[in-house]
Amino acid sequence: MKNIIFNGSMVDKSTVHIDIEDRGYQFGDGIYEVIRIYNGKLFTADEHLERLIKSATAIEINIPYSIKEIKNLLIKLINENNVTMGIVYIQVSRGVSPRKHSFTTIHTAPVFIAYTSELKIPKDSLSCGVSAITIEDIRWLRCDIKSLNLLPNVLAKQKAVAENCFEAIQYRDDTVTEGSSSNVWIVKEGVIKTHPANNFILNGITRQVILSICKELGIKTIEEKFTTDELLNADEVFLTGTTTEVMPIIVINNHKISTGIPGPVTKNIQSLFTLKIESICGPIN
Ligand SMILES: *Cc1c(COP(=O)(O)O)cnc(C)c1O
Repeated sequence: MKNIIFNGSMVDKSTVHIDIEDRGYQFGDGIYEVIRIYNGKLFTADEHLERLIKSATAIEINIPYSIKEIKNLLIKLINENNVTMGIVYIQVSRGVSPRKHSFTTIHTAPVFIAYTSELKIPKDSLSCGVSAITIEDIRWLRCDIKSLNLLPNVLAKQKAVAENCFEAIQYRDDTVTEGSSSNVWIVKEGVIKTHPANNFILNGITRQVILSICKELGIKTIEEKFTTDELLNADEVFLTGTTTEVMPIIVINNHKISTGIPGPVTKNIQSLFTLKIESICGPIN
């Protein structure tokens, strides 16, 4: 896609060069967001941009644009690139300075970029369900920051893909935390559970949307820790995320979840989520 946002302006992608001493490039020193585009419209942009600011603040990066300014830039970009179904990726690095771990004495401007790509709704996987593996969570203790430091997530996902699976579900000690880029939910005897939003997980916007839809409709959900045993013996398991949407998990570690097909609670949440998208972006099917 031809146009990108670079430090507050829309420019041709070919004119942008990232410095070799950009701290995002050298240290993973920065943060990011992915926002879904349906029918050319941003879905839950404010929530994502609020989290972008929150992540930046947590690592002492000061983004020099307001949420409104960023949103206007993104809308302009989507229109100019003619995106209908896709994503916008936003990244803010601490900026460019001579390589040195500390940043306290530097006064560099953060480097802000955003670009779009096309992405279809993964209809087949959403209707049939996908497989996952479990893997030890070896990440740091600030998983609530959407940081560019994704090495453990990258290695976890790579292991899943090497085993023909969609996602790696991480556990710390015996507690299931989240996927490499998605939140994890279980259903047991009608009770819907997901890990509490603390420093051990990234509090997904999709997760928050599902929690609020359920609350509105009186569907009981609990934000509570659960074990890998509970995961494997659940009636239903699903993942949530911006590109993952509400994804049924039907097999984990080659072991079927219940009868190995997407369950009724998952399917109900999928259709409620679709209704939510359509209420903001219009019909998607
Ligand atoms: C982005 C992300 C999610 C999902 O968050 P959404 O806002 O729903 O896309 C979950 N876990 C991790 C580790 C993530 O990076």
